[in-house]
Amino acid sequence: MTEHGSTPPVAETARRDIPAFARPGDRLMSIGGRRVPAASGQTLQNVDPATESPLASIPRGGPADVDAAVRAAQQAFADPSWSDIDPDERGRILIQIADVFEQHADEMATVESLNMGMPIRMTRFMMADVVKIFRHAAGWPTKLYGQTAPTPGNRMVYTRRQPLGVVGAIWGWNGPMPQLALKLAPALATGNTAVLKPPEWASLTTLRFAELLESTGLPPGVVNVVTGTGAEAGEALVRHPGVAKIAFTGSTRTGKHVHEVVSADLKHLTLELGGKSPAIVCADADLEQAAHGVAAGFLLGSGQACVATTRVFVQEGVREEFTELLTKAMAAFTPGDPLDPATLMGPLAHRRHFDRVMSYFDIAAQEGATVRTGGTRYGDHGWFVAPTLLDDVTPGMRVVEEEIFGPVGALMSFTDLDDAVAKANDTEYGLAASVWTNDLATAHRLAAEIDAGTVWVNTYGEMTTGSVPFGGFKQSGIGREGGLEVLDAYTQSKAVLIAL
Ligand code: NAD
Repeated sequence: MTEHGSTPPVAETARRDIPAFARPGDRLMSIGGRRVPAASGQTLQNVDPATESPLASIPRGGPADVDAAVRAAQQAFADPSWSDIDPDERGRILIQIADVFEQHADEMATVESLNMGMPIRMTRFMMADVVKIFRHAAGWPTKLYGQTAPTPGNRMVYTRRQPLGVVGAIWGWNGPMPQLALKLAPALATGNTAVLKPPEWASLTTLRFAELLESTGLPPGVVNVVTGTGAEAGEALVRHPGVAKIAFTGSTRTGKHVHEVVSADLKHLTLELGGKSPAIVCADADLEQAAHGVAAGFLLGSGQACVATTRVFVQEGVREEFTELLTKAMAAFTPGDPLDPATLMGPLAHRRHFDRVMSYFDIAAQEGATVRTGGTRYGDHGWFVAPTLLDDVTPGMRVVEEEIFGPVGALMSFTDLDDAVAKANDTEYGLAASVWTNDLATAHRLAAEIDAGTVWVNTYGEMTTGSVPFGGFKQSGIGREGGLEVLDAYTQSKAVLIAL
């Protein structure tokens, strides 16, 4: 079913002037400081989800490429040019990475928007965040302090923070560059080396990033990139005995598999997984402000956000008034060309994902949910889905319990705060929440009682780049990215005991 006739949201003329890196042709991986194709010679086609036109192809890396990359990273880890580097110099290299990235931020934003369909105004924000994440991490190398412990006079004990070794980083297509930066910046700041496996549908910015690193002082082999599928390149990285830690962002399903695999050889692990986050709108809230925030909560990035607040709970009494405001706010997210700075919502990232999201409209109908607005494809070209609000949903329905990862919100209500907390926490996930209220006591109570790694109050989606811990409760993950927690996530402590 389609909506709004057959006019595609993106005109043919909109794609005449795209960055050279995104145009059709074969791109290369980065292993040991060299640009290389996959050992097999095979490639994977990346596609513009707004036009369905081919973009550049990426190497289809596999176990042999992963092995070469891990070996290069191990060698770089042992090399004094990285392992014995002056901490000040290591910090300076992170600043160089931030600077070169900043110089190319516009190009990176355009390539990302073409590759995974996110509107350019959002990818520009994301690229600015990446710069901040590297700048933030640049302060760590000179502040990795150890401790001394109280001892008898003839003994001395001190601790050292040491890097783990080779970090294998794997992440999803819904925000590739920030997900890369949140892993790589602290990994490098603490002296590790890395093998990066970007998402197969959106690898172009990572490959371009690897090229940009060549102009910094980073020694060859410290950062390596292997592209390819999860089943081939990802699985080989997770299983490689030379990898000390896996930093993974992706679905809870894949995350559980990764957890199982790495437990066999006790690799360090952080998991940033899925969510089905609640938005709680109290009767005393500024309802208009809340409507905009809640609409953004499940529509930004076409709902392809791990922190999307897709379960909307409105206090009884203001439900109808709020729903009217919400459907009005949703109109601003009418899909459009991701490269148009006015667009707030683009297509879904991939044909396969589009089919999956569309299947939930049938599931919703079978379960007895009704559609307040949307519920259809948008246009007949490109993987666009209309902003959708489902009503008459009840706990236990699949559309309430499962992460759809599309522009779909489910509307429900609550009576009092106890009811709100019980309903918000009635999920296997615990990644984020937004709370809308003008009562300070309500805000603090809900923030304390909701099971979520991040709670936004009267705002949504603001991230403090690198300085605040980010991660999930329950099945939304293990460990945190950002904040002071990164020091424990990327280093191990050693106690040294000396008889004097
Ligand atoms: P996914 O789990 O399918 O894939 C994520 C990454 O894992 C990809 O690079 C993929 O190639 C790789 N992979 C797949 N199978 C693998 C295997 N067997 N071994 C190793 N690697 C493998 O997830 P996706 O659909 O690409 O991303 C969307 C999911 O990511 C959503 O569930 C979303 O909530 C989650 N996400 C979480 C966060 C967070 O920080 N919590 C951020 C963004 C996305």
